[in-house]
Amino acid sequence: MMGMYDVPMWHSIRDGAMQLQHCAPCGATLYPPTPVCPHCLSGRLEWKRVSGGATVLSWAVFHKTYLEAYPAPYNVVAVRLDEGPVMVSNLEPPLPQEGWIGKRVKLIYATMPDGFVLPRFVIDDGPRA
Ligand SMILES: [Zn+2]
Repeated sequence: MMGMYDVPMWHSIRDGAMQLQHCAPCGATLYPPTPVCPHCLSGRLEWKRVSGGATVLSWAVFHKTYLEAYPAPYNVVAVRLDEGPVMVSNLEPPLPQEGWIGKRVKLIYATMPDGFVLPRFVIDDGPRA
């Protein structure tokens, strides 16, 4: 799960302030972490904190338990971060009854039963910053 390029990201998540790589030459925000920018192939990448704002692109509910710390049923959402990258995560309750796609969500940090801190999302009903 944790590759060498991911280490700063997981440390920032554990600290409650997720950072992703930002490409200095082209301005792209990169996820997952990478040695070079896939857009312009630059290696001049800086870690920057993300805003935490995102929009739901798609979602699914899984009815099978794969890991004891993550009992079914649970949802999986694909969100587009305001910085651009698409991230696969989970939406925390309260869950919308319908119409998940296009919902504004915000990043939170959930400590799982196994002690691992994961970036997750909650519906953001507040005014858009
Ligand atoms: Zn770039």
